[in-house]
Amino acid sequence: MKSKTTRVVAIAVAALLVFSLVFAFVAEIVMYSQSSAAQTVSSLNSKLSKLDAEKTKIQKELKSIEKKKSSTMTKKAALDRQIDVTEHEVETINELIKALDTEVATVTEELNTALAKEQKENDDFLARVRIMEEEGSVSMLGIILSADNFSDMLTRTELIGDIVEGDRALMRTLAETRSSIEQKKKSIDDARAQQAQAKKNLVAKKSSLETQYKEANSLIKSLNMEAHEYEKALNEAEKAQEQARAELKKLLSSSGSNSSTYVGGDFRWPTKATYITSYYGSRKDPITKKSSFHTGIDIGASQGSEIYAANSGKVIVAGWSSKGYGNYVVVDHGGGKSTLYAHMSKIKTSKGATVSKGDVIGLVGSTGWSTGPHLHFEILINGNHTNPMNYFKKG
Ligand SMILES: [Zn+2]
Repeated sequence: MKSKTTRVVAIAVAALLVFSLVFAFVAEIVMYSQSSAAQTVSSLNSKLSKLDAEKTKIQKELKSIEKKKSSTMTKKAALDRQIDVTEHEVETINELIKALDTEVATVTEELNTALAKEQKENDDFLARVRIMEEEGSVSMLGIILSADNFSDMLTRTELIGDIVEGDRALMRTLAETRSSIEQKKKSIDDARAQQAQAKKNLVAKKSSLETQYKEANSLIKSLNMEAHEYEKALNEAEKAQEQARAELKKLLSSSGSNSSTYVGGDFRWPTKATYITSYYGSRKDPITKKSSFHTGIDIGASQGSEIYAANSGKVIVAGWSSKGYGNYVVVDHGGGKSTLYAHMSKIKTSKGATVSKGDVIGLVGSTGWSTGPHLHFEILINGNHTNPMNYFKKG
């Protein structure tokens, strides 16, 4: 009979080796009931701890990837808007340059016409002076040289001046027109050059935005791939845990502690607080956003408030769990019924201790996989988690 029990345990331990994953408190029970297997269980326990730590690390990395992805998406959207605005700016400048080009063409034509007119008038004037000189009717040089004195010269040049005044006035007007057209052309040329420079800057800005946009896109792509890899790893870890749960049931039924007699009576509520922040059952993981199963209830009790044993029994676990429970306690009430209290700030009992219903076994905290102070409370029947609310009367 004894060797048969040993063999059953040995098979279970072998199965453990195959799956490499089991809850810490299972190991505690095995140690408690079968000291011969203690060493193997201890090494399995440390292996399990490492796997749990890895899972926690994966979840944390996944969370940081999601955060990075979300910020990159925001950046990409901002870049998208900036590119759009810059494109509109470039379009506007292009239109402006086109309008300035048309204006420059018109003014250039005006200028050419003015220059031609001026040139022609100048030519005509020179031709007339040459004819006058050839006819001997007037000689500019002669007038100046034949003057007796300065006053005389002035009189004579005034005379000749009267003759050519019409021509001069015309030429002056033409020169003024040409100059004003030249000025106008210059200012348009300047404006155009300015717009061309602005356009060049905008095109460079747009190009740099487009590069950043492409970078953000490829970052999102690679983050998506990375997140996918982590999700796959997490799925595998969760599968391994499911297998470990199946092993846990077998172990508890063979350990003998389940065949003991139940201490009797109803369970009492384990805290003063009664507000439940998360019920037993399927829920969306707040970190991975994936559906997962919540194996207990979360009671929104304040940091440091007392946690009471739900019933009398023997403390079979009082310690740290890398599984995510943080500081936690498991009380065996006999008859295969046990209760689990997690995320304690402080444990107020010890392994092997006998507790009475209502004894303070710990204080509420947020240790382990927790985002704020609360009591995670589980009721286990032969190692299977069950809905704790089925054990409490409403009201
Ligand atoms: Zn919980």
